[in-house]
Amino acid sequence: MLYTSTRDKTVHVTSAQAIARGISADGGLFVPEEIPQISASLLQELSGLDYISRAKRILALYLTDFTAEEIDRCVRGAYAPGKFSSEKVSPLHTIADGAHVLELWRGPTCAFKDMALQLLPYLLTTAAKKTVADKTIVILVATSGDTGKAALAGFCDVPGTKIMVFYPNDGVSPMQKLQMTTQEGGNVCVCAINGNFDDAQNGVKAIFTDPAVAEKLAQHGMMFSSANSINWGRLVPQIVYYVSAYCDLIAEGTIKNGDAVNIVVPTGNFGNILAAYYAKEMGVPVKTLLCASNANNVLTEFLETGVYDRNRPFFTTTSPSMDILISSNLERLLFHLAGEDDARVRGWMTQLRQTGRYVVEDDIKEKLLAQFAAGCCDDEETKATIAETYRAGYLCDTHTAVAVHVYEDYLAATGDRTPTVIASTANPYKFSKAVLSAVLGKEPDGADEFAQVDQLIAATGEPCPPQLATLKEKKPRFTDCCSREDMAKKVYQMLGIDA
Ligand SMILES: *Cc1c(COP(=O)(O)O)cnc(C)c1O
Repeated sequence: MLYTSTRDKTVHVTSAQAIARGISADGGLFVPEEIPQISASLLQELSGLDYISRAKRILALYLTDFTAEEIDRCVRGAYAPGKFSSEKVSPLHTIADGAHVLELWRGPTCAFKDMALQLLPYLLTTAAKKTVADKTIVILVATSGDTGKAALAGFCDVPGTKIMVFYPNDGVSPMQKLQMTTQEGGNVCVCAINGNFDDAQNGVKAIFTDPAVAEKLAQHGMMFSSANSINWGRLVPQIVYYVSAYCDLIAEGTIKNGDAVNIVVPTGNFGNILAAYYAKEMGVPVKTLLCASNANNVLTEFLETGVYDRNRPFFTTTSPSMDILISSNLERLLFHLAGEDDARVRGWMTQLRQTGRYVVEDDIKEKLLAQFAAGCCDDEETKATIAETYRAGYLCDTHTAVAVHVYEDYLAATGDRTPTVIASTANPYKFSKAVLSAVLGKEPDGADEFAQVDQLIAATGEPCPPQLATLKEKKPRFTDCCSREDMAKKVYQMLGIDA
């Protein structure tokens, strides 16, 4: 099976090339040329298997240029026993009649990005061996918090890779900062920069695209690659857990094979919900994909009206990982809905770049309305949902609460009682302050983030994941802070190359 670009259909690459390159040279995203199918009998068979076995079968349909041994090694490494706090990897938890929360945060950093970033390093190093021989892969990440830690944890001590993360010194929470600065491993490096997230991101982009830097790396047998969410290697692991959730519902006797389900996803960059779309297109019986947004509701408007308009105020919310106005992965959906018409996609993306806005025509709008529903909620509603869900027996984080709220609104508006999978994307202790204030019904006293963790434990009795609870006792390894101008120098230093 081959992959093409959303902006140039004459591109044909293998999955290894798509993963090693990250993004197509024309600026488009790699997409599978056809979506592999799962039959009802395969779903039945998979429902009798464990997560690792299911993952191997599903990945093999997409990574046809990987050998069975390679896929086996990748999947076993990523989801090895003990790495995730549930032997099911991503277990389901029923919170109400017909509403099943899919816990995607059982991994090392307690956020859903682990599901993909634990597997990506294996896929990337295997892909690099096939395409660029024995080069050392150098991953550069600019992060506003969660992605940096998940990437560090994924690439930690993976042979043939080095990873360097830049974060804005005053732009991440104390918990996120400590998660990164205490990272172990011989191939990792973390550095603060004096500036905001945009400075970090622009600095990384400048280094990435500087031919002089690339040349210097090549002389030392190294090359840059990307752990960014537009890499196909980050999307394909996410398809697995939606198929697996459907299989678990069959295995538990909650549904019969063939019954329809709805899926609700708290959405930012549109990656996680796009993975659910691929699962649906593969043949998992999904009726409606419900896209949940916070106050940054650019996607709610788009899915309801066909107008994508990023010219709007940007809100900083209690669900920060969804504070996004350009959802990059939407481009992949548009390509598929437009019947693989790359010229139309190029047109929309040019308009977006030039005016911050585009409008899709009625044919696309009809397809969106037939498969998607959308909703949004603000911070007050998020907080109220955390409190209400907690009283009903389940403590969830702010991002998950947005999804739960949008699901409840949808249920009230439609009466659609189809069994529903709600993606839960972070452990509540990752966002202790907001969760605590929701549970207490008032702002916590001026305590720091770690005192709030203790208060949340005291208030709810919910266990805090040990990797978060023990953070405050750890000594930071990485205390450097540099200016934006010195970032390239830092990269050379880390790689042991003379500038
Ligand atoms: C990244 C993230 C999201 C958004 O996922 P997308 O794939 O960007 O839509 C939601 N919740 C949490 C906790 C995240 O870290």
